[in-house]
Amino acid sequence: MLQQRTIKTLTRSVGVGLHSGQRVELTLRPAAPDTGIVFRRVDLPEPVDIPVSAEAVVDTRMASTIGRGGAKVHTVEHLMSACAGLGLDNLYVDITAEEVPILDGSSASFVFLLQSAGVELQNAPRRFIRVKRAVEVREGEGRNLKWARLAPYHGYKLHFEIDFAHPAVDSTEQSAEFDLGSGNYARDIARARTFGFTKDVEMLRANGLALGGGLDNAIVMDDYKVLNTDGLRYDAEFARHKILDAMGDLYLIGHPLLAAYTAFRSGHALNNQLLRALLAQQDAWEFVSFEREREAPQGFASPVAAW
Ligand SMILES: [Zn+2]
Repeated sequence: MLQQRTIKTLTRSVGVGLHSGQRVELTLRPAAPDTGIVFRRVDLPEPVDIPVSAEAVVDTRMASTIGRGGAKVHTVEHLMSACAGLGLDNLYVDITAEEVPILDGSSASFVFLLQSAGVELQNAPRRFIRVKRAVEVREGEGRNLKWARLAPYHGYKLHFEIDFAHPAVDSTEQSAEFDLGSGNYARDIARARTFGFTKDVEMLRANGLALGGGLDNAIVMDDYKVLNTDGLRYDAEFARHKILDAMGDLYLIGHPLLAAYTAFRSGHALNNQLLRALLAQQDAWEFVSFEREREAPQGFASPVAAW
């Protein structure tokens, strides 16, 4: 049987929120089978649990925000991406502010934390959402066109194309592909950082965003070049980060997907619309689990890949 997974012991981290700039403590704790991933605002007078789901997404400007009854958690996508990449089903995420810490702007620190805690196999079958029919969402036209699509695939792979007319981005590949069955998330995707442009920073800060952002937790570019002295971590780091984001956004559906995701200039908003469009078409998907490991997609039954 392909089993559900949680972590073995609790683990903690402290950082700042990318947009709020607030100090925040994060505690990741094991959770029982079929709990799913649940964010808990432990700083509120009465702690509020926010289980992830496509419908729990209440804001997608600059980051994915989930909420329940007025309580919110911003910027959940990088931690969710690490959970998707490591195949974790059940986890409590206790948080002392309304934004997940940005750490180094990638999901590598979350992967490190989760792997240090150890992965525990649980006595319950993993429940996948298998896409049976292609579903696509689109926005804009011509130069403003964006789209994202999920299609049937026995496994999970993502292809992302960006289109930034910027010399530093242009000098790298503007597309990337990742297959969870044959690739290694920690090695190929997790270290890709979020990115931004100095010309946008003033506008963002005037709107109370990116207050915690800087060269320690983002690739920052002026009109011509990357300002980080160490340069890029990967070829196609920009496109790889968009895959990292998409894996996090899509994992908010609450189950691992069996699908091929393809996207052109998509973002948090369109990724969430894609999940809602899929769920709205009941003949386009089904729940599946694997009693026999050999029936599972290649690579899915193996233990979590190490660094
Ligand atoms: Zn991101």
